[in-house]
Amino acid sequence: MSLALIPIMSDLQISSPPEADEPLEQQFSQIISGVQRYLMQERDLFGNIIYPSAEKGMQTKELKEKTMGDYPAEPWAGTSSLGELNSLICECQKCSLGATRIKFVFGVGNPKAEIVLIGEAPGADEDAKGEPFVGRAGQLLNKILEAIHFKREDVYICNILKCRPPNNRDPRPEEVQQCEPYLWKQLEIIKPKIILCLGRISAQVLLKTNDTLTNLRENVHDYRGIPLLVTYHPAALLRNPNWKRPTWEDVQKLRKMYDEMKNN
Ligand code: URA
Repeated sequence: MSLALIPIMSDLQISSPPEADEPLEQQFSQIISGVQRYLMQERDLFGNIIYPSAEKGMQTKELKEKTMGDYPAEPWAGTSSLGELNSLICECQKCSLGATRIKFVFGVGNPKAEIVLIGEAPGADEDAKGEPFVGRAGQLLNKILEAIHFKREDVYICNILKCRPPNNRDPRPEEVQQCEPYLWKQLEIIKPKIILCLGRISAQVLLKTNDTLTNLRENVHDYRGIPLLVTYHPAALLRNPNWKRPTWEDVQKLRKMYDEMKNN
């Protein structure tokens, strides 16, 4: 194995390192899949930025200038009901995802929830069912909620994008730009006391930053006066079980913050 790969491989979730007596082709394909997994882990944390610290300052400033804007002058902007909002926007064709989706995935849960969980975008299972977080990542999310004594029905769960990007690729800026106002409206109607962002993309979009997931997890942020916490995306935990422990710490923090709010 090339010496340059050794530090990378030591961080990877690989079942066993390639054996020297395995056929060369097999060793090579193990190394490639290890590197792929490593790059996905890096993307979960840092996005597609190769040198996060060098790019952070400049991009964050530019993004901050584009803070939450006004709602477009469209009928849904005046509603104060989640059901009506859904019925007014569920045929949306503002971006190309409208043409490829099976179902519009509005959101699910308690319309008066004090905690809102926000993911990235529907995947294949969610697209088929029209409900966020119903696949493997969703089952893990349910367990995470149970661990802090919440049921799925207690909270509200939604995504930055309401339609599935093909092949689960990252949301594109033009898609976020069209879809984010729907999320603002959902949050305005629900009025949660705490927001939990699931994964880097959700946090970066809401906070208008390019900061890394590692950094974003460290603080309680302010989103239009609502405390906002950030943790790993459940799909990232499926890829890297080492992140389950820090996620447990994040959701304990959420539970504590919620209990303190209730007691005050
Ligand atoms: N991943 C997300 O970010 N949202 C879902 O609804 C499902 C998977």
